[in-house]
Amino acid sequence: MKIIMLGAPGAGKGTQAIKIAEKYGIPHVSTGDIFRANIKNNTPLGAEAKKYMDEGKLVPDELTVRILLDRVAKDDCKNGYVLDGFPRTIVQADVLKEELTKLGEKIDYAINVDVPDENIVRRMSGRRSCLNCGATYHIEHIPPKKEGICDQCGSPLTQRDDDKEETVKNRLKVYHEQTQPLIDYYEKEGALKNVDGTKPMEEVFADIIAILG
Ligand code: AMP
Repeated sequence: MKIIMLGAPGAGKGTQAIKIAEKYGIPHVSTGDIFRANIKNNTPLGAEAKKYMDEGKLVPDELTVRILLDRVAKDDCKNGYVLDGFPRTIVQADVLKEELTKLGEKIDYAINVDVPDENIVRRMSGRRSCLNCGATYHIEHIPPKKEGICDQCGSPLTQRDDDKEETVKNRLKVYHEQTQPLIDYYEKEGALKNVDGTKPMEEVFADIIAILG
């Protein structure tokens, strides 16, 4: 099963993607996580991506597509995957479609986690991430068991630079200009499923399971 998560930054699609990956036993592939891991390890790719990420801009398509295609070509992706944060532009969606078509495959579901803009900034300012394992929390909605500490690996939690308010506003602008058109794109492909992302996390997940079966 190949799944794409759509939705504004902060809509909760990462949290849902992780839960989907666990339930269906497929990898969670997040381009944002791949970039952050590279930044943490001081790779040339990390240095290049950081220039864009710190300003809330998109990393150029050519680089992003290469990273993603390398990742989904790995063995663990052969029974499917859940993509979180990719595609973010029509160009990226077209390349993915082309590559899948060559293999006789397609995206089965594009799940749009729908949350209005006014909720987003509030949500993102409460978001905390683990730089070590990539787990995400929210100080109100998904608090860790111990404040400031990751439940999964015990590392300290931090606020991502790109979750700061100015950057969030920029990311929302970029989302509306470049990523939102993907909702129509996947509707035309017959893959789009909308879920109401303003509901509590477990209810959103139940709605997603009802769709995926
Ligand atoms: P995320 O963790 O998905 O919110 O991504 C964090 C940042 O990484 C984004 O704001 C972009 O700068 C960059 N990024 C992640 N995925 C992509 C993508 N598919 N295309 C371009 N930039 C991306």
